[in-house]
Amino acid sequence: MLQQTTVKAVAPYYLRFTEKFPTVQALASADRDDVLAAWAGLGYYSRARNLHACAQAVVALGGFPQDVQGLRALPGIGPYTAAAVAAIAFGVPVVPVDGNVERVTARLFAITDPLPPARKKLAQLAMTLNADSEAQERPSDFAQALFDLGSSLCSPRAPACGLCPWHGECAGYKQGIAAELPRKLPKAERPVRYGAAFLAQDAAGQILLRKRAEKGLLAAMTELPGTDWRLEKWNKEDILHAAPFVADWQHAGRVKHVFTHFTLYLDVYAVRVQHFSNHSVSDGFFGARRLRKGHGTAFCYAKML
Ligand code: SF4
Repeated sequence: MLQQTTVKAVAPYYLRFTEKFPTVQALASADRDDVLAAWAGLGYYSRARNLHACAQAVVALGGFPQDVQGLRALPGIGPYTAAAVAAIAFGVPVVPVDGNVERVTARLFAITDPLPPARKKLAQLAMTLNADSEAQERPSDFAQALFDLGSSLCSPRAPACGLCPWHGECAGYKQGIAAELPRKLPKAERPVRYGAAFLAQDAAGQILLRKRAEKGLLAAMTELPGTDWRLEKWNKEDILHAAPFVADWQHAGRVKHVFTHFTLYLDVYAVRVQHFSNHSVSDGFFGARRLRKGHGTAFCYAKML
């Protein structure tokens, strides 16, 4: 849950999620749509799908694997998570390498090669950080101390080297280049995509929704019907051609959303109708009532069309 966000933002989601699914077994036996609904608002929905699949794999195995290799084989578990769980939960002497640990390593060894190409080299060097016997004996404490060092003293812009227990051995500090490490290749410009979404509401307050495809971006998520998201701008005629039914669609505004790999401009067209069934709505759509709950918006699947 904490990927790309802060503890403060995640805390209420975490509490609600663990209350709803208090055990691995409860999560494994839950309906996937319920898991996705509990995740709604956190973004990166493949994590929710993977977490659900992972819980099912753990239940099928009869418990959590306790080494890096076994953890790595679970759905959605990459090298960082496998190493973090192995070190923190099971006392395996490995170093989990996240962005903070990468930065500390680049500075300790004064690695000036830019990211992302330097990532492999930094991961190999990070594996040597726990070489001394005390670190080997306390893998969980060592991993968490390293995370804390990276998120506090060894901060991205202004490392507090004078307070750092490693400043005597830190090559980046000695060379006076710590604050500028790790170097990064310039970012490629983010492409822009365009699309349109259709907001149809009936007299009972239901909104017309559909489910996205099982694979690809935002897989299996509930969404407003709409056009493809493409690099070329849409004209109004083509947009209205993609509407779920013929009606007096009115342009209601434009939404901008920045994904990691593209920026999306979505023109929203809206209409109010008496009842969806009076219109020739194709299969795959459903009406849902909107509920305001906590910080998020939930949809009550009131009635299939
Ligand atoms: S001495 Fe400075 S740059 Fe080196 S690890 Fe410590 S805080 Fe980071």
